[in-house]
Amino acid sequence: MEQNAYGFEFELEQIKALIEERRVRRVGLQIPSGLKRVALAIAAEIYKETGADVILSGNSCYGACDIDWKLRGIVDILIHFGHTAAFPPGNGEREGEGEEEEDHQLKEKIQEHVFFVELRSTIEIEPVVEMAVAEIRGDSVALVATVQHLHRLDGAKAVLARAGKQAVIGKDGQVLGCEFGSCAESTCDEVLFVGSGCFHPEGIALYTGKRVIAADPFMMRISVFEQDELIKERYNVIGRALDAKSFGILIGMKSGQFNLDEAVSLQRKAVAKGLEAYLIALEEINEEQLLGFKVDGFVNTACPRLAEDFVHFKKPVLSINEFEVVLGERGWDEIV
Ligand code: SF4
Repeated sequence: MEQNAYGFEFELEQIKALIEERRVRRVGLQIPSGLKRVALAIAAEIYKETGADVILSGNSCYGACDIDWKLRGIVDILIHFGHTAAFPPGNGEREGEGEEEEDHQLKEKIQEHVFFVELRSTIEIEPVVEMAVAEIRGDSVALVATVQHLHRLDGAKAVLARAGKQAVIGKDGQVLGCEFGSCAESTCDEVLFVGSGCFHPEGIALYTGKRVIAADPFMMRISVFEQDELIKERYNVIGRALDAKSFGILIGMKSGQFNLDEAVSLQRKAVAKGLEAYLIALEEINEEQLLGFKVDGFVNTACPRLAEDFVHFKKPVLSINEFEVVLGERGWDEIV
């Protein structure tokens, strides 16, 4: 199998070396859904070259927070493709002695048992950044990307400089769907995001309030995201929840998405306001899993990506902040 045939660096040489060095007999592979088509070829290559048994995770793999610990329990090492090791992964650093200790333990467990392959893209991003220049209104942009394109941001910066635009790369330039530190503090008026899909640029626009130009180097497509439009969509969802009498409060059971204290606190607040509220713990949160629960709406305390997945769901699915608006504890202008 050629490493670059699919547009990503799979780092198979490094993986094979690790398997041999640690004398691994059984290896687990976790790969994002969009790349599952490649998983069989990777598994076959590892087996052929090392003789180790290879077990593929068939579960979802949305982020570094989404580690298949059950699979890890039956293999010697888990290889997690597509994300950077993040500590703590998911909903960010938590405060409080108990939480800090839990995060610390999780960090050690991840470092010991999981090997991350970022899946750096072999696609050049300069051509799509050249296309994006026409959409940039101001003189400067905060330049960010998903992990796959970070190693090419300097090339993108040079393209922008030639076009007379200053590009500022904050931290390492990386954004997650729930973490926008690379551009949140930027003084630039706009953000140029390099990557695929709507989830990241929508999140950036919503949480920073800046106009986001998204450049997808695989599709060679430019899209623009503005906070006002996204806020209107969220107001619409909150509006649909105002008459609800009962809510399911969703607890994500993936390690970096687990937010039990917040969920319990929301349940108590809802009950105190005369609403029915039930705590529902799920590994995979999707429509099919929720249909059987006869409540009027749901509250998501897990991954923010859910908001995108549930945009056409019949029942409103609110974020924590949005639910607090429904409870009358937060203003409509405070949902982000
Ligand atoms: S956006 Fe969701 S899947 Fe990605 S790191 Fe954050 S909580 Fe995990």
